Amino acid sequence: MTPRIVVLGGGVAGLSTALLLTRRGFPVTLVERDPEPPADLADLAGWKRPGAPQVRQLHTFLGLFRTRLREHLPDVHADLLAHGAEDISMASPRAGAADGTADEALTVIASRRGTVEWALHRALAREPGAELRYGTSVRRAESEGGRITGVHVRGGLLEADVVIDAGGRRSPLAEDFTEAVGEVDCGVVYNTRFYQLLDGVERPPLHRGVTTMVAGSGFGAGLFYHDNRTFAIGIGRLPEDNALKALRETAAFDQAVAVFPEFAPWLAEGMSRPLDEVVPMAGLKNTFRRLTPETPLGYLPVGDALCTTDPAFGRGASVALAEAVLVADTLQRAPEDLPGLAGALGEFAERWLRPWYEDSVRADLGRTALWEAEIAGADLPGLGAVAGGVNSFVLLEAGEHDQVLWEAAQRHINLLDPADSLERPELKERLDALLAAGWRPRPATGPAYGDVVAAVAG
Ligand SMILES: Cc1cc2nc3c(=O)[nH]c(=O)nc-3n(C[C@H](O)[C@H](O)[C@H](O)COP(=O)(O)OP(=O)(O)OC[C@H]3O[C@@H](n4cnc5c(N)ncnc54)[C@H](O)[C@@H]3O)c2cc1C
Repeated sequence: MTPRIVVLGGGVAGLSTALLLTRRGFPVTLVERDPEPPADLADLAGWKRPGAPQVRQLHTFLGLFRTRLREHLPDVHADLLAHGAEDISMASPRAGAADGTADEALTVIASRRGTVEWALHRALAREPGAELRYGTSVRRAESEGGRITGVHVRGGLLEADVVIDAGGRRSPLAEDFTEAVGEVDCGVVYNTRFYQLLDGVERPPLHRGVTTMVAGSGFGAGLFYHDNRTFAIGIGRLPEDNALKALRETAAFDQAVAVFPEFAPWLAEGMSRPLDEVVPMAGLKNTFRRLTPETPLGYLPVGDALCTTDPAFGRGASVALAEAVLVADTLQRAPEDLPGLAGALGEFAERWLRPWYEDSVRADLGRTALWEAEIAGADLPGLGAVAGGVNSFVLLEAGEHDQVLWEAAQRHINLLDPADSLERPELKERLDALLAAGWRPRPATGPAYGDVVAAVAG
């Protein structure tokens, strides 16, 4: 018997899972509390997304996301490129220098998250097996005899044998049906503003592929290039750093970004225009959940409902799509084997996802310690202090002198190698050789902390 499937949530996780399932012959009802995306991409900035405020935050779509998209939803990848998103190779530290031997998987997609959702939605809306209910909230789920039987929406029970919970980090169901194995504050508040280059101006150079990153002293900042000549600038600060708290206000944010030499070519008079106000995002956590023996069969959390990691690493959409593929493949192989489906997701989460969650927690703790020490005025050796040794940020810098280190770091950052892949002895040996030859990680970049504080204060 074909199971009745409800997908809760129309973010990246929900849309991609629903799309893959309908294309494997399963009728799917998707329930999303926010309104439908606009028909015309040009109207994206006016799309209200209170259910997923991170849509207005800077995004990049890593190599794993692009690889899975091209394997399983190639039409969506093509549609994105046709509508202004760009594939950008990270295979070499010299932007655009990738030759025919470059690792193709090391390519990211430059796009706003809203554009990715728009393209996924467009594809899903064309599928005859998909019923899309926008503007509809799931209140709670119903189960009987250890099996899920449906979800409650206004107007009654929506019956289902399988409920895919793609309701994000504030999913209304995850707390009741899963156990939080880990929950650790990311230790950062993001403030982001979107802009668009004006017609006719040439795109200024980016430092690394799709981004210009600033490893500030006591803060971090980045410029991410998106689709259709749009870009976002974000500044991250410690949650308890009251001196930078006013970054949440557009006037103070504008004063702050003006003191970054890295952003000047983008923000100079006649180059770009802001698309909206600054959007702050606080209260972010690394969380890892798991199914328990009490979880009703047929309930499956995916995406942020299952695990969140610090957005600084840009992993969320890749993880969500990997899980969407796993759920669709497993259901297709054995549509009635609900214990097998729960087992497959649980095994994947423990084996592959949990090490990434732990990696994120470790890196966050290292960054918090570094920022606190920098604000306190300690003299630190730059990036090398972040996680006390071999990490992808140090390897990327070293990789500017050693292609093997560059690729190892990029394969790690892009989730193409396992979370522990940087622990290989040969990488340490190559790094040691560079250090012995006098190379050192750069100290912090960008304006001094005091200059940013002064700019924010006006
Ligand atoms: C600041 C920031 C920057 C980020 N940057 C990146 C990045 O660069 N790259 C990357 O890959 N990831 C990034 N992420 C993470 C990424 O956005 C998500 O992890 C990823 O898109 C998966 O999200 P999701 O679909 O699981 O959840 P969400 O995007 O949260 O979607 C959940 C959906 O469920 C809906 N919903 C919730 N409750 C209900 C309900 N009761 N009834 C009906 N609908 C409901 C919501 O409206 C929402 O649309 C970032 C996140 C943040 C916060």
